[in-house]
Amino acid sequence: MISSFLSKLLTTRQASFTEKGIEIFELNFSMQPLAALVEFQKEVTPKKMERFGYLMSDSVINHFKKRFAIEEDKISNLWTGLFNVSGFGKLHVVSMSDKEATFEIKDNNFAKLYQSKYGEQKEPVCYLICGILKNLFEKTTGKKASCKETICIAEGKTSCSFELKVT
Ligand SMILES: [Zn+2]
Repeated sequence: MISSFLSKLLTTRQASFTEKGIEIFELNFSMQPLAALVEFQKEVTPKKMERFGYLMSDSVINHFKKRFAIEEDKISNLWTGLFNVSGFGKLHVVSMSDKEATFEIKDNNFAKLYQSKYGEQKEPVCYLICGILKNLFEKTTGKKASCKETICIAEGKTSCSFELKVT
């Protein structure tokens, strides 16, 4: 079933999927299979994957700020809505202050796919999502931050958990 967030964007023409392209809030997107990201991770360093995620979020937030000049909490709501339809799973904010935050994803499809392709992992693997969350947290706090995934579905856990800290 289509998410209510996406459905609203489509009916109000804030999102369009046509042969000319995919636009969400007038920002161009592309679709790619998660399996490609999972395989790509084997060929690059964790740092590069995190950087890729960081740039994904950076493009979205910078575009929102430039295009709409809207208030911070609205940007954050739109960002969360977009993340939740991005195919990684639903993001839960466990806690958030101006110095640290904890995020959780219960049905993280990236980690599930990683585990089914490469077996149970000894360490968390969601560097891409760490990068996405790190960017969000930095934009929210206005300070440099770090992200560490503490438990991961690819390790056989029931969720992926991310700890963000101002550095
Ligand atoms: Zn994970």
